[in-house]
Amino acid sequence: MAFGPVRFSPPECCSSAPTFPQPPRLLPGSQRSGRSLSDAQGWRHVCQGTGAGLLQPKADRPRWVSVPVGVSSRSRGMLRRAGPSLRHVLLERANSAGHSLRFSKAKMSRPVQARRLEGVDKNIWVEFVKLATTHATVNLGQGFPDFPPPDFLREAFVRAVSGENHMLHQYTRAFGHPPLVKILAQFFGKLLGQELDPLTNVMVTVGAYQALFCCFQALVDEGDEVIIIEPFFDCYEPMVKMAGGTPMFIPLRPKAPKAGQLMSSADWQLDPAELASKFSKRTKAVVLNSPNNPLGKVFSRGELELIADLCVKHDALCISDEVYEWLVYDGKEHVRIASLPGMWDRTVSIGSAGKTFSATGWKVGWTVGPTRLLQHLRTVHQNSVYHCATAAQEAVAQGFQRELERLGQADSYFAHLARELQGKRDRLVQSLDAAGMKPIVPEGTYFLVADISAFASDVPNTTGSDEPYDSRFAKWMVKNKGLAAIPLSAFYSGPHKNDYSRFIRFCFAKEDATLKAANDILQKWKREKAGP
Ligand code: PMP
Repeated sequence: MAFGPVRFSPPECCSSAPTFPQPPRLLPGSQRSGRSLSDAQGWRHVCQGTGAGLLQPKADRPRWVSVPVGVSSRSRGMLRRAGPSLRHVLLERANSAGHSLRFSKAKMSRPVQARRLEGVDKNIWVEFVKLATTHATVNLGQGFPDFPPPDFLREAFVRAVSGENHMLHQYTRAFGHPPLVKILAQFFGKLLGQELDPLTNVMVTVGAYQALFCCFQALVDEGDEVIIIEPFFDCYEPMVKMAGGTPMFIPLRPKAPKAGQLMSSADWQLDPAELASKFSKRTKAVVLNSPNNPLGKVFSRGELELIADLCVKHDALCISDEVYEWLVYDGKEHVRIASLPGMWDRTVSIGSAGKTFSATGWKVGWTVGPTRLLQHLRTVHQNSVYHCATAAQEAVAQGFQRELERLGQADSYFAHLARELQGKRDRLVQSLDAAGMKPIVPEGTYFLVADISAFASDVPNTTGSDEPYDSRFAKWMVKNKGLAAIPLSAFYSGPHKNDYSRFIRFCFAKEDATLKAANDILQKWKREKAGP
């Protein structure tokens, strides 16, 4: 298990220092006692400090040594004087937990990393979230709302954790809390025109992320090909690879907008012949993400029929990531590919309460599909995560109950959220357009991609760097302007990262004050560019 940077207070001898180096083999949760820290494996990490703290030359810094628990300080002094070899032997004997200092220091010669992790270790979010945390005054980078979920949902959570039913603090059914799978079956049964069995056609997951992971692990084999439409939500590629599959990429290609109009996400389209050419005997599945992150494209019925026909023709599955299904603007229709002829039986549809109810931190997601597919997802789920937080599932179930009663009505939260977000989208489009950063107007999601070409000269050229231009731009922008966004190249596969690297992605699910602050930065930047 990996832990983030461990922060804890230094012992007195290092107390003047703001932080101090992590002692060897220090485990999270180690006990602190005076000048030493003990770990769970019977080791004590002892600070041999000078008392002056860390702000001193390296050589004088306090040093951490590890000794087995049970070795007194007097013995430690003797051991030091005894020199390395005797010290080694005695320490090995003294180690009551049976650990060998020699072995703990010996380097393993065999590779520790499983082959399936090769080439998938980098993650854009780790780097950009850190940059945003350090430098951003306005963070339109990572995709989450900075406004609260609706009151009815928060109240449902409070009732779940503080009400009479203390069983909501315990495990529930592994494949989904019964009230939640029941209401999801009712809700999506209605939308898909299918009679759904809550126990076999629905599975609750830890966010849509785990739903995706279950799909790839359960359905993709070594040698299988999986078609991914670029730009794509970045985890699809590593997840396919970790399952042993081969991603096959097909780009959405931008068409010139109508004269005098801003580009729309609808102008990014698949070439039907190119798409057909990606299918082969080895094609196991297509990953569809509509509405699409990052572009905000809402695939039209015609585009979905094209994909569906090819899936049926080549007997391929469809993994349909629909987490932004309610965030659709300008009267556009979100078509569920599972509802098209021949598709129910070969599609897993994925949703997320994080996006649906503006509660990304709850990590409640789900899959809906035929038993013949979901039974295999259940095998992955029961052997990995097994179970999702009960109270959050209970609250989401109540949220859906409310929404089912209001489906299609103006007072439904889903309708309200889309109206609110459309207004926010328009505000950000206006700000970017006025500043000269050409926005691509999204038909859905809460993301917006903008063309940064007009700002190119602001960012110093780093010759020799093979980092895509948009990535360098986004880093420069957050450090110098305090505005965080994500480079579009992050949503392309390795060989295609430079194909459309003059765009950055903003998230507009933000309070009006946040969008105003972003606008202030952009307009000031524009004035500075124009000069006095
Ligand atoms: N799919 C897409 C397209 C997403 O944008 C995200 C979140 N950014 C997810 C899946 C993961 O959703 P969750 O937070 O529910 O795991």
